[in-house]
Amino acid sequence: MTDLVVLLGVPVERSLSPTLHNAAFREQSVDAVYLACRVEAGRLGDAVRGLDALGATGANITIPHKEAVVAHCASVSPEAEATGAVNALVRGHAGWIGHNTDVAGFLAPLAGRDLTGLDATVLGAGGAARAVVYALLSAFAPSRVTLASRRPEQAERLAADLAPHDPIGALSISPLSEAPSARLVVNATPLGMYGMEDQTPFPRADLGAGQIAYDLVYRPRETRFLREAATSGAETIGGLPMLIGQAGAAYRLWTGRDFPMDTARQAALAALSDA
Ligand code: NAP
Repeated sequence: MTDLVVLLGVPVERSLSPTLHNAAFREQSVDAVYLACRVEAGRLGDAVRGLDALGATGANITIPHKEAVVAHCASVSPEAEATGAVNALVRGHAGWIGHNTDVAGFLAPLAGRDLTGLDATVLGAGGAARAVVYALLSAFAPSRVTLASRRPEQAERLAADLAPHDPIGALSISPLSEAPSARLVVNATPLGMYGMEDQTPFPRADLGAGQIAYDLVYRPRETRFLREAATSGAETIGGLPMLIGQAGAAYRLWTGRDFPMDTARQAALAALSDA
């Protein structure tokens, strides 16, 4: 029987996840289908129980449900526990197991670099920033991580929630307009994405050689933030490797197989060029 994997969120119409996963299922002859389902706030519990009744293999969870879905999990992974957010459900013996594969996805394009003790600035303090900050703390033991957001209370909450993972007190907060430059500057706001292409969360040209500008936005592939950073000599990383990395980590949980990265990347690029 064909296995079912779904994406639950609002909006989901422009998500690349069905493209990535269905291309991978085809490539590896896995008898499964991935569907995006629009689930409004307030219907999440019904949707998750419905998936259980249907015998679904798993799910991805996106905005606005990543935090609320924790209440519907029988258990959660350490990453999901630390970030308070779940983006993938896997069927377990006692119910759904919640995972946060955004953490592994964020780290994927940074693999193989010695970033131990780095200083970093994270722009934005929403759900994705939580995965980014936890990933930085757990992978690199950073000397400093500045959380720069337009609402200081949001960054303060993030810093307080992740304090147990910050043994040296590396986390500090700053207004977005005063975000300091750093070895690694990460955009975890939607500024620069499709519909806001002329905007950037980091309007100063003080990134240069030896620094990395990392934008979680993947549509467009090159945002204003990345374009300006590249012009002043910094290395740039767009959001597509993270998207593929988080998808790959979830795919391994559902199927036990390695994700066919090249196939997924080609499928994503084709979909982005059609958009
Ligand atoms: P979110 O939970 O809504 O958080 C967004 C953050 O950006 C919040 O701190 C928000 O502040 C801030 N923000 C929004 N609009 C802003 C503006 N006009 N000016 C300044 N700050 C603003 O969203 P998220 O899930 O963290 O996602 C953030 C971005 O990362 C999105 O573009 C998303 O597509 C991208 N993302 C990419 C991947 C990937 O795999 N590449 C994975 C996850 C997310 P307020 O709360 O004050 O609005």
